[in-house]
Amino acid sequence: MIVIKTISEIRKQLAGARNIGFVPTMGALHEGHLSLVRLSKERCAKTVVSIFVNPTQFSESEDFSKYPRTLSDDLAMLENEGVDIVFTPDASEMYPEGAATSIDVGELGRIFEGEIRPTHFAGVATVVSALFNIVQPAAAFFGQKDLQQVAVIKKMVRDLHIPTEIVVGETIREADGLAMSSRNRYLTESEREESLVLFRTLKMTRDEIESGMNPQDAMLAGKKFFSEIAGKALIDYLAVVDPETFQIPNSFKPMQSVGIVIAAKLGATRLIDNILVTA
Ligand code: AMP
Repeated sequence: MIVIKTISEIRKQLAGARNIGFVPTMGALHEGHLSLVRLSKERCAKTVVSIFVNPTQFSESEDFSKYPRTLSDDLAMLENEGVDIVFTPDASEMYPEGAATSIDVGELGRIFEGEIRPTHFAGVATVVSALFNIVQPAAAFFGQKDLQQVAVIKKMVRDLHIPTEIVVGETIREADGLAMSSRNRYLTESEREESLVLFRTLKMTRDEIESGMNPQDAMLAGKKFFSEIAGKALIDYLAVVDPETFQIPNSFKPMQSVGIVIAAKLGATRLIDNILVTA
C-alpha cells in the first residue's frame, strides 16, 4: 500500500491505470468505510481511498477542528484490506491559493441537511469533483448512510457528465442498530443508549408505510413515536422523501421506493440515519 500526499505523485502512480475504484472518506475509519473498500476491491482492478477532512463542508459552528483524526489506525485498517493507494492531501494541496470555484447542485443542496448546514453540500460536491479529477475513477463508492449526499453526488455526476459510476453500499450498523459513524465516539454512555431512538423511529415509520399509511400520516406517526421515546434527544427532521430529489411525495405510487430520513441531536452530537422502503 502506498500513502501519497501530493496530486502530482498520485497522478504519476495512476498514469495508465484502468478500472480504478475510489472510496472518499474523512478518516476515523470504521466497518462502514471498510464495507465500501471491500465493494471496490470486488469490482475494480485498483482501489484508492482518500482521507481528507474537508474544511469547506463544515460551517464555522461545526466540529472541523475537533473532528476525530486517527491516521495511523486508519492506515493499518486499509493496509489490512489490501488497499492499493491512500491519498492524504493537506488542505493547501486540495485548495490552491485563491481557489474560489464551487459546485451548486440547486434545490437538492438546500433542503434537509442543506437547510441546517447551508454550505455543506457545495463543499461536498466541490471536493468530490476535485478528487474525481485527480483519481479519475471508473467507479466511486458511497454509503447509503448519507442518503442525501448520495443524491447530491449522483446529480452532480449526471449534470456534469462525469464518467464515474456511483455505487452505493448499504448502511453498516452496530449490533443494536445504531448506524456506524465517526461521530458516534462523541456520545456519552447515556447518549449512546438514547441514540437508538433514531433507528427505532425509522423502523416504526417503515412499518406504518408498509401497512398502507400515506406519507403525511406516516411522518406524523413517526414524529409522535419519537417524542414519546426521545428522552433528551431533539429531532431536526423526520421525513418520507423521494431518494433522488428529496421531495416529499403527496401519495405513494405502487411499489414506489422512498427514503425515511431522520436527524436528531443528542447533547452536542448530531446524528443522521435513514432507511429505504417500498411503499
Ligand atoms: P465520511 O468519512 O463520514 O465522509 O464517510 C465516508 C464514506 O463512508 C461516505 O460515503 C459515507 O456515506 C460512508 N459511510 C459512513 N458511515 C457508514 C456506514 N455506517 N455504513 C456504510 N457507509 C458509511
